[in-house]
Formats: sequence, C-alpha cells, structure tokens
Amino acid sequence: MLRVADHAARTDTGRARQANEDSYWVRSPLFVLADGMGGAQAGEVASKTAVDVFAEQGGLPDGPGTYEERLAALVERANVQVHERALSDEQFAGMGTTLTVAYVGEDDLAIAHVGDSRFYVLREGKLSQLTDDHSLVGELVRRGQISAEEAEDHPQRSIITRALGIEDEVVVDHFSWPVRDGDVFLLCSDGLTGMVPDARVAEIVAGAPDLSNAATRLVAAANEAGGRDNITVILFRVEDVTPGDGAVVGGPTLAGATAPSAEDVRDATATGPAAQPSGAPADPRQVVGASAGVQPRTPRPPRAGGPGSGAAPKRRRRWTGLAKGFTALAVVLVLIASGGWIATRSVYFVGTDDDGFVTLYTGLPYSLPGINLYSTEFTSGVPVQELSPQVQRTVTEHKLRSHDDAVDLIRQLEQGELAGQNPS
Ligand code: MG
Repeated sequence: MLRVADHAARTDTGRARQANEDSYWVRSPLFVLADGMGGAQAGEVASKTAVDVFAEQGGLPDGPGTYEERLAALVERANVQVHERALSDEQFAGMGTTLTVAYVGEDDLAIAHVGDSRFYVLREGKLSQLTDDHSLVGELVRRGQISAEEAEDHPQRSIITRALGIEDEVVVDHFSWPVRDGDVFLLCSDGLTGMVPDARVAEIVAGAPDLSNAATRLVAAANEAGGRDNITVILFRVEDVTPGDGAVVGGPTLAGATAPSAEDVRDATATGPAAQPSGAPADPRQVVGASAGVQPRTPRPPRAGGPGSGAAPKRRRRWTGLAKGFTALAVVLVLIASGGWIATRSVYFVGTDDDGFVTLYTGLPYSLPGINLYSTEFTSGVPVQELSPQVQRTVTEHKLRSHDDAVDLIRQLEQGELAGQNPS
C-alpha cells in the first residue's frame, strides 16, 4: 500500500515576467499543476480555472473507472470550463493552459496530462520524464528529427501543440506508473525545465535534506539561470507501507505529514508575488516563439508532397467552432500574439495541391524549418484552372477558416454555386 510520505510545492514569477500565470493545487495524494497562456490576465484565468476544477472537488471524487480514467475525466471537464470561459469573454479569447495531474492510489500512481508541463520520477538518483511534451519540439524529438539535447535550446521550444481551452474537446494522456518505495516525483512548469537541465534538477533534489529545501533550491536555480518564465514545482515522495514490509501501516494518505496545510492549498495566481501590476504584458512566450522561428512567411500554395511528407497529423479532429464575432484568423492572431503557441489542428484553409486541385488543409499556411504547420484534410475534384480569376484568388489566398466554413466553400465550388465561378 502506498502513502505519500512528504511533499512540498513552490511557485515563483521568475525574473522576466510581470505576473505568474502558473497555478497549482495540492491536497495529498492529489497534485495538480497548470501553466496558463493567453496574454494580459487570460493565462492566469486559464490556469486557475483548470486547477479550480480539482479544488472544487476537494480531491479525486469516487466514481466508476480507474484512478487515471477519473483524473482524465476531470481534465476533460477542466478543458470545457476553460474553453467556455474563453468563448464567453473577448478578453479571454484564445487562452489556454497546460494541466498535469498526479494521484497516488493504493497500489500505483495515476497521471493525466496535457501540454508541456512535465512529470518526472527520481529513482536511485536518476531523473526520468514520464510525460510527453505536447510541443513542437516534443513532436520532433519523438520522430527522431532532433535530439533531446537539441530540443532544450530549440528556437521553437515554446510552441505548444496541445492545450486545454482551445477546443471543446481535448485528447488527454493518462497512464498509471508502478511506484517503488522511496520514489520522488516532480511536477513542474517549463519555467523550471526551460532553465535548468535535467541532470542539475536530479542533483538538486537528490542532494537536498528534504523536499521543501529541494523545491526552494529548484526555483532558485531557475532564477539564477535567468528566470525567463514563471516557475512552479511540486515534489512528493512515496513510500510503500504494505503490512509485512516492516513499515508502518498507513491510514488514509491524508494523515500526518501529508495533511494539507494552508501553504499547500493555494494557487499561484492568487498568491503570487505582491504588487503584480494589472494588465500585465503578454506572455513572454511570445517573445521566444515569435522572435525565433514562428515568422509567418508569405503564404504560398502548399505542395502536395509537403503536407504528406512526414508531418501527418496523429488524428483528425472535428472543428468545433469559435466565439461568435471572431473569425478564425483573429483567433489565431490572438494565439500567436498572446500565447506564442499555435493550435495547428484548430484552423483550416483552402488551397490547391500539386496537381492544381482545390484542397482542404488543417493548420496554418506556413512552414517552419523541417516541419509544415498544415496537413491535408481532403482534396476535391475541382481543378483551380477551371475557376474564374476571382474565385481562384479566393482559393489561393489561404484565408483561415472554421472547418464548416472551409468545407462549405469547397462544396459550393464542387457544385458550381459560387458567384463568378465559371471563367468567361
Ligand atoms: Mg511556462
């Protein structure tokens, strides 16, 4: 039987940000961390909204399903809440957040995860990352296109490919992990991992007298390295108290050292450093992302070989709509300008393939070195040469559209319904 023997958490605005957009919530054996993005105060709202879904439950509620399934269901609920909040208020349009959650059950550890915050285990001095980064560089590493070391300094490392709040549905990674007595776990935002190499993180945690000290030193190390982002760390150590192992049989894991304290139960946005100016500047992730690679090129017709060459999407998702009054273009500009990430599966545009047929693409009509930000949804039977110049412009301007709008345009072309479609 597992028991959380010790835990500690810290959050810090860092040295470059005006505000802390990270949020966390701890009630052992449940640990929740979110890193919001969205500019102004939207990132704070996004991360706090997500974390509050767990705080309102006061823990992991009973119900059908395994621990990890119940965690994932709550993450999905958090996604809906962030998404609906983003749709309901113009100032929150396009906001999103990562969310990583861990729950220590009786026999193993359950994890649910979306985004590029990370979950690690430190076992026998070795730090291993258990979650995948849902980021552009994470994808490149998994495809073997760059090494983990190259990813650490990659100019596009701030671009997130999956986050809560962007759509009304999100794919949640969830799994269980077989814990060993003495394992130490770390949840952290990228304000730590972007500044401090894994080897140094391992050294600090392994060398600290206790987890509270380790958490303080991790935050200090990130700040000493520049503190370019908000830094949040949650550490917990698990012991096996199975009868017969000579260990004390534990009661509920809320007992003793694991009982929540006032310090535990807080979120970073509510209790971040004092004197946060209101109207904080946009998420500095934008600086990293926009200045170092997400420089939209002049849109060009995608090449047929491009979208299909190694950049195939994992899955196709249904476009689920954006707030009334916002075009897809506006939302993407908000995403780029405020969050520095690109929800590349959330928008669509119409173009032509190499053979000149009108084609629906998902993503953005741009390429980064080594990767296209779009992929083919389907190709119509309409040759672009048979359209009038006016309509040709419409299908080659690569205007960002909702799924329904883009499909509607292609259907009209197929049925010859578009005004001025036939060249005279
Ligand atoms: Mg961050």
